[in-house]
Order: sequence, then C-alpha cells, then structure tokens
Amino acid sequence: MDLSKKISKAVKAGKLYNLEHFHNAWENEDLRRLMGNELLFPPSPRVIEAVTQFLPKMNYYPEDPATNKKLLQALADYAGVAGGADWVTLGNGSMEIIDMLPRTFLDPGDEVLLPCPDYSPYARRPLLYGGTIVDVVPDADFIYTLEDFTNKLTKMTKMIILSRPNAPAGNLLPREILISLLKLDVIVVVDEAYTEFSGESVVGLLEQHNNLIISRTFSKAIGLGGIRLGFVLSNPDMISYIERIRVPLNVSLLTQVAALAALEDADYIRNNVKKVIAARDMFSNQLAQISGVKVFPSQGNSVLINTHESGVSAEALQMHLLQAGYLTRNLSGGRGIPGDFFLRITIGTADDMHHVAALLRERISRG
Ligand code: PMP
Repeated sequence: MDLSKKISKAVKAGKLYNLEHFHNAWENEDLRRLMGNELLFPPSPRVIEAVTQFLPKMNYYPEDPATNKKLLQALADYAGVAGGADWVTLGNGSMEIIDMLPRTFLDPGDEVLLPCPDYSPYARRPLLYGGTIVDVVPDADFIYTLEDFTNKLTKMTKMIILSRPNAPAGNLLPREILISLLKLDVIVVVDEAYTEFSGESVVGLLEQHNNLIISRTFSKAIGLGGIRLGFVLSNPDMISYIERIRVPLNVSLLTQVAALAALEDADYIRNNVKKVIAARDMFSNQLAQISGVKVFPSQGNSVLINTHESGVSAEALQMHLLQAGYLTRNLSGGRGIPGDFFLRITIGTADDMHHVAALLRERISRG
C-alpha cells in the first residue's frame, strides 16, 4: 500500500523536530550541557526524597491532574493566580501545551500569528490541525512593534502565540504591546517558560482578559526538565475547554509528586534563579567586550550571539567549545535566524561562563 496516499494533508504539512542535541548530551555525560536551556543545578533534596518515597507505588495510576487540587492550588499560589486551582491545568511538559492549545482552537484555514524567530515547535503543531502560520517579522535586533502584529491580522486570525522572554533572543515584548494584543478579537498565548529569570509576568492581566492563556514549565528555573511538567494558567471557562482535549492521566505519578515537593522548596528555586541571573549578566558583559560579537540582551537563561562581524561562524565556535567540553546550540539558519553566525549558549555556573567567554574570545581572535 502507498501509505503516503492515506496520510492526512495536515500531517503531510507537519515537520519533524530535531532533538539530536539531547541525544548527544546523554551519550556524552561528561560534556557540560549548555545547549538546551536546562538548569545546570541538581534538583532540591526534598524532591529527591519525595520521589524516592513514591517509587514503591509505581504500580498504581496517578490521579488525574484535574482532581489533584492540592497540586493545582500550589501552582496557582506559585504563579500568583488569586483564583486558585480552577485557573490551572497541566501538560506533559509545556511542549504538550504547545500541542494542546492549537488543537483546542483551530479549525482548518485558521491563521496563527507567530513572531519569527520564536520557539520553533509553535510553527509545527498548528499545521497538524489545519492551521496556517503567519510570520510576524521584527527588526534586525529582534524587536517587535505592535504594527508588526496588527499588519498581519485578517478575518481568519484565531491565535497569537509568543514567548516572553523570547526564545531564542531573550528579550521581552513590551507589556503595552501585549495589552494592545489582548484587546484584539484573538486568543493570545504567552509562553512564560523563562519568566523567573526576567522577574516579569503577565499573570496580573488574566482577570481582565479572558482571551489570555499563559504557559509555564518546570524545565527551566524550577530545574526539573526530566519530569516533563508544564502548566496552563487561564480563566476557568478557558481551562474547561482545554480540559476537553487533554489526554487523561497525561502527567505521571512521579512527576506530580516531584512537582509538589519542588514548590514546597521555593527558596531553592529562588537561589538558583539568582545564580543564573548573576552568571548571565556577567557572561553578557564579557561577551560584549569581544570585538565582532553582537550580544542580544537576555532576560532568560541563555544568551544569543551573532558573530557575523568577526567572520567566525557559529559552527566553528560550537566545535571549539565542544572540544573544550561544552555543548551549545548553533541556531543559524533556523526560522527567522538567517546566515551562519548565531550561537546560543545556556547559562551554567559562573565558572562555566567565565571559561566559555574566554574560549570564545580566544577562537574569535584567531579569526
Ligand atoms: N517554551 C519555550 C519558550 C522553550 O524554550 C521551551 C524549551 N526549550 C519549552 C517551551 C519547552 O519546555 P518543556 O520542557 O516544558 O516542554
């Protein structure tokens, strides 16, 4: 049988996501993982203890996320959502949320406005549900104006999805622009994966704007990428629609246990965030002093650089860092990232970042 004749048009339009960088990291555990915007500090001892206690109970199903009100309430408290548990639902990582939301809203032909560049899975999942992607293009510094978005609106525009801080640029879409977007007749999804590193969130806008959906994750500041937990914040009406497409029991028992324990150790999260911010700002300053390197000011846990003026490609720099034991991410040629000179480096310890800055300086000075 010619399988391709049976595959839906939408799936044919879909694209695979390349996750080789995680494979490489697990194959070479001695390398420092500065390629995936994870936290480089280990989980809180309280998380390890809680998970260990539940290991003998893995024969049982977890409860469904919708009934685990204790966890939902803890998440609402952590995010500062006054309405509580009814304003939260969970995804198996925020990557699952990026799949759930287009499924909730899109009919074939609907358009989704996406900043270009932004987190690449946004440009893949809507296609699977018949959606059309409309690129919103910033200036050369990856700065967006309100008109960049409104010029692209049509009768078919159903959603806007954006990350704030932006992945991979690290900057924040100004709050006033976001408020203007919320006044439009569209669903606005704000992915706050990196919010803790920016100290800025739009949670306070949820009550006034019932078209706002916020996505959060345990993979960045909370440092639990391995448990795969994301959460959605929105009004109860919106949450009830998203609940209709959420796969039952989509969040594992150990994930739920680890999440609650992590939230009970808020100081641990805060301390890690402080360390990352200090290392990020120090690293950005060091990079800014290297001639030929353009540093994009970051409010996240990674720094994007453009080395076009130095003439040394991102690939050459990535190889140089790899030989010294550091995995980084060459984003050149990705959506909205033209050329060969864009390298993104996740923030590790202060020592890592001093070392990486010195390695980059040395390689670039060789030309
Ligand atoms: N959103 C953004 C903006 C990201 O950068 C990432 C991970 N790199 C994710 C979501 C996915 O996170 P999760 O581990 O929660 O699936």
